[in-house]
Amino acid sequence: RRARTAGESLVFYAPELNARAADAMALESRLRRAIDQQEFVLYYQPKVTLADRRICGVEALMRWMEPGQGMVPPGQFIPVLEECGLIGEVGQWALKKALHDQSEWRNAGLHAPRVAVNVSPLQLRRPDFADDIVALVARSSSNELELEITESVIMDNVERNIDALGMVRAAGVSVAVDDFGTGYCSLSYIAKLPVTSLKIDRAFIVGMSSGPEGMAIVSSIIALAHALKLKVVAEGVETEEQARLLHLLRCDEAQGYLFCRPVPAETITALLQRDMPLPME
Ligand code: C2E
Ligand code: MG
Ligand code: MG
Ligand code: MG
Repeated sequence: RRARTAGESLVFYAPELNARAADAMALESRLRRAIDQQEFVLYYQPKVTLADRRICGVEALMRWMEPGQGMVPPGQFIPVLEECGLIGEVGQWALKKALHDQSEWRNAGLHAPRVAVNVSPLQLRRPDFADDIVALVARSSSNELELEITESVIMDNVERNIDALGMVRAAGVSVAVDDFGTGYCSLSYIAKLPVTSLKIDRAFIVGMSSGPEGMAIVSSIIALAHALKLKVVAEGVETEEQARLLHLLRCDEAQGYLFCRPVPAETITALLQRDMPLPME
């Protein structure tokens, strides 16, 4: 077909675009209903200290339990919540809920782990982001809240984020750089970021088995983190060999299906009561 004019191509693509717009609108109204009906749930995935494999933290991972649809993973609805301006509300709910669950573990006399909540780009960009977090922590009895922010999101408008994260840190909140290694963090900035840990992206953990280069990348990230006095956490650890190598390389903490999948809060309660190394037999 010969080159089309703009008008022709609009006609050509219009039906498809309309179908997609209709889908998006339907999803948006389902999400609004989900907020009203409280269909969002926090699952938690343990982080373990590699030295003893005991739970040192948990990461809150959101799920959408839509009646008749089963469990919808966050990749399918978080971006939509962002697009329609609903992420602020749901994100605030997740922070409160995670702090609430942590206080329940403490009230049950358990050793309540540090609780990490993922922060989306739009949440971080809001002018009162830091003030809201500081107020939330001041009102809660929590001692250990951690925010996980992906490297690419921190690097987008990095100067501003350094200020906001500095305020959050001053309130005693930890900050982890999530998916580290995938976001082109310039080395001149990494030392200036007011963060407490780096989470090595799962892709690099997978890459460790592919040969010496893969190992070199992971051991360099670990050395970089330690040189900057940051803790380093491996995500997506699925095999015993990966866990053993990471421990040999002096990685501090790890998270992944090998130890435990994301589970409901009650399962975390049971694991804390049991107080044993992971994985469970
Ligand atoms: P993330 O923060 O990097 O979370 C890690 C993802 O890897 C989770 O997927 C987790 O279930 C999965 N995972 C953990 N261990 C393993 C493993 O051993 N192997 C493999 N293949 N995967 C593993 P999930 O729960 O689908 O979450 C995906 C992403 O959605 C998260 O990536 C995070 O960026 C985002 N997300 C989740 N909950 C929230 C939330 O409450 N707020 C915001 N803004 N984002 C969230
Ligand atoms: Mg995360
Ligand atoms: Mg991650
Ligand atoms: Mg990830």
